[in-house]
Amino acid sequence: MPQYYIWTIGCQMNKAESERLGSYLEQSGYQATATADEADFIVLNSCVVRQSAENRVINKLNALKPVKGSRPGITLAVTGCLVNSRVDQLKQRFPHVDYFFKPGDYPQWLEEPNKLRPVLPRHPSPTTFVPIIQGCDNLCTYCIVPYRRGRERSRPLAEIADEVKELVHRGVKEVTLLGQNVDSYGHDLPDQPDLADLLYELNTIDGIARLRFLTNHPKDMSPKLVEAVAELDKVCEQISLPVQSGDNDILIAMRRGYTVEDYRQLVTEIRSKIPEVALSTDVIVGFPSETEPQFQQTVSLLCELRFDTVHVAAYSPRPGTIAAKKFEDNIPSAEKRGRLIKIEQLQERIAAKINAQLLGRTVEVLVEGKNKGKWQSRTRTGKLVFFSDNNDCLGQLVKIRVEKTSPWSLQGKVKAHSND
Ligand code: SF4
Repeated sequence: MPQYYIWTIGCQMNKAESERLGSYLEQSGYQATATADEADFIVLNSCVVRQSAENRVINKLNALKPVKGSRPGITLAVTGCLVNSRVDQLKQRFPHVDYFFKPGDYPQWLEEPNKLRPVLPRHPSPTTFVPIIQGCDNLCTYCIVPYRRGRERSRPLAEIADEVKELVHRGVKEVTLLGQNVDSYGHDLPDQPDLADLLYELNTIDGIARLRFLTNHPKDMSPKLVEAVAELDKVCEQISLPVQSGDNDILIAMRRGYTVEDYRQLVTEIRSKIPEVALSTDVIVGFPSETEPQFQQTVSLLCELRFDTVHVAAYSPRPGTIAAKKFEDNIPSAEKRGRLIKIEQLQERIAAKINAQLLGRTVEVLVEGKNKGKWQSRTRTGKLVFFSDNNDCLGQLVKIRVEKTSPWSLQGKVKAHSND
């Protein structure tokens, strides 16, 4: 039986697409293998959202040259955000690659009749991802995604509901709905359902225990969606809301479409409606011409709003984006690195305090798998919890008494299993 190997980096969307592509290959007669050395068909699912990610993809592609040279019969394909509309140039640059195909598509010779209805994972994890909208109609000046993933295309609501029912049938307990901007879901569909409508529908499905969604755009997150999260029992109290900067001039240069004041008001609204909510955000430091006082505005906002999680990245110009064309990348790398570390250290202190409040409390977790001999699970708010237990807890809801906390995870003891 021919073997396949998929190497994936980047966002959850890439991971979900790789999982589905793997299932499709298995249906086409391939078998998964753990290393590229043994594979007949190798796929690199790439990310170029930052220079560091692109470098890793290029290194991986170069490392595969000798593999392809020694075994010319193997097929090497590249998908993900490296694949732009100029495939000819990519072919010239990487002649050892046999096929390039766009993110979310299927290789030409394995073409799915309906690309928007991807093959479901055959053996999904109890917690799995469901893409609901592809592409992005925003043009944040630093972002390459709209150029690679194209305009927004939503999947029909009924199709997603059917898919979630089928996933439940295959053992899934938790679904995370994915999109570059999930708040745009549905505007391109005939009846224009929105994400709140989709959540109301999915909440009625028997057997699904938890629903999440990623990623929100602060300018598009509606009061109706906040209400839905507050009201629906299966929708978890966890919201990702990338702010990117705490300075209004930088937000304008990024073309984010909101002000710090708008953002603060939205967070206040969310916290008043969903008191236990865990909020995460993304921040870019060292955007062109970001001054020290402007950076300090971001630091102040993070101190004020106290997020559960902050993902911080140093700006790197992405060729083809508006920022790369218009602005000089004029913050020295050492300065960017320094700002990034300051935010990481600040967030470590904030997350340590937030998580310490859970000490001694009992939380309900859903078990995702094993990690270094312990069960790995998550609270409804998305916090990682590790515990030991001799029962098979995979996919179970378990009540855990928290006995130890850190900025990144919790440890605890079982108080009760869901079926106790
Ligand atoms: S909302 Fe902005 S940052 Fe997010 S994918 Fe779209 S363009 Fe990129």
